[in-house]
Amino acid sequence: MRAGNAVRGMKKKHLAMLLSRLEGFPEPKPELEQYRTPGDVAAELLWLAYSFGDIEGKAVADLGAGTGVLSVGAALLGAGKVYAVEVDAKAVEVAKRNACSLGMEEKIEFVNADVTEFDRRVDTVVMNPPFGSQRKHADRPFLLKAFEVADVVYSIHLAKGEVRNFLEAFSREHNFIPRILTTVYFEIPAQFFFHRKRLERITTDLYRLERVHFFEKHLNFKGHHLRG
Ligand code: SAH
Repeated sequence: MRAGNAVRGMKKKHLAMLLSRLEGFPEPKPELEQYRTPGDVAAELLWLAYSFGDIEGKAVADLGAGTGVLSVGAALLGAGKVYAVEVDAKAVEVAKRNACSLGMEEKIEFVNADVTEFDRRVDTVVMNPPFGSQRKHADRPFLLKAFEVADVVYSIHLAKGEVRNFLEAFSREHNFIPRILTTVYFEIPAQFFFHRKRLERITTDLYRLERVHFFEKHLNFKGHHLRG
């Protein structure tokens, strides 16, 4: 398929199918928590972001892009430019092949670096960071970078009380308001879970985090001040 421009009128199901057919990690590295974002989860997240007006014509960064599922999906939905940031060179090669397979390579700039090194300002971050099940708080540098480079962030996290509380506190500390848009199943191949089952199904929250602007934050205070 050749689709240099946005695929107009694409259905969410069709996007999910295209993304689920992309090439996966050749040798997933557990320490980097390399599990690809399932096509249906990626499509759900991107569809929501698109509906909020955060994809079409926008500069988007995919932090921890892995095989490029979210980057390619954002490009298909009409992002103006996508930065795919990934530390593992082998994964970047896969992501490049995936982008080419759907004619999206010209829209995506591949950045083979640690997320902490990424320094471009973008409109929107979409990401599926490590869940922190191998290394606790592995998602922190991703959130910090996202808060630094964008005002709107879409991210996937485990649907657990502890994680929800962390996201709530950590986001607000950085002047972001987190909102869970929906909760979905996320299938992970069993290689990370001692092969008990072929697929492990976990539950994840899809978040939209938005920066609170100084003015809004201090609106009440300012109002009071002016009246006085
Ligand atoms: N959306 C991706 C999967 C993300 S899994 C896909 O569908 O393929 C998390 C990704 O973050 C992995 O590819 C891992 O290699 C990468 N990663 C982990 N730590 C990183 C870091 N510090 N900087 C950049 N990438 C990192």
